[in-house]
Amino acid sequence: MISLTDVTKTYPGGVTALDGVSLRIARGELVGIVGPSGSGKSTMLHVLGTLDRPTTGSVHIEEYDVGALSDAKLSALRASRIGFVFQQFHLATGTSALDNVADGLLYSGLRPAERRRRATAVLRRVGLGHRLDHEPHELSGGERQRVAIARAVAGEPSLLLADEPTGALDSVSGAGVMRLLRELHATGTTVVIITHEREIAAGLPRQVQMHDGRVVADTVRHDVTAPAVN
Ligand code: ADP
Repeated sequence: MISLTDVTKTYPGGVTALDGVSLRIARGELVGIVGPSGSGKSTMLHVLGTLDRPTTGSVHIEEYDVGALSDAKLSALRASRIGFVFQQFHLATGTSALDNVADGLLYSGLRPAERRRRATAVLRRVGLGHRLDHEPHELSGGERQRVAIARAVAGEPSLLLADEPTGALDSVSGAGVMRLLRELHATGTTVVIITHEREIAAGLPRQVQMHDGRVVADTVRHDVTAPAVN
């Protein structure tokens, strides 16, 4: 579904954040990208999510060669196929949970009533059916991240990319968010989670370990492929 081939990314100023990365992620996988701060994880997520183009090397997302697409085509691909979740939620303040999620569907071509119907359904699915009218400041951190996840998956993307999704949460809320990501994975979404938390990474079926912009280990655990239920 996704492949990176010999990808490098050098930022202006000369920092090489990715240094010859090749990686394939199959449809339906749940993958953790782990490594210390500065190892290139976020850069990898940006490249996987087509938010950033590599300096050299190629990126394929499903049938598309990202390097061959115009910025407009790339935006369309991103909007229809990829959902993003970030550590700091990035919700619109002063806007209800329902509208935060519905607004994420603005470019879907759906009518407003259908956007709201779908947003309601997905908020219920993440356990927030009773918080539809709450604004972000009226929600806990864990609830905010659930809204962000609902927004990310409302358009039914095939790929969900999460950058330190539990980084701003206490351990109980973080565990709830991880459970939700696993549930989404169990329904067929390909999920890639960036984390520097070893405990989280250890519970994932595949771990790609980064160091100094390189993949230094890629481990598949056959005993943890089923979603956790507790
Ligand atoms: P991680 O997510 O593992 O902490 P990053 O991908 O954020 O790693 O960063 C990898 C390296 O690239 C670091 O040395 C970082 O300082 C550098 N870097 C990241 N983003 C930029 C940027 N926009 N401009 C210049 N250097 C950057």
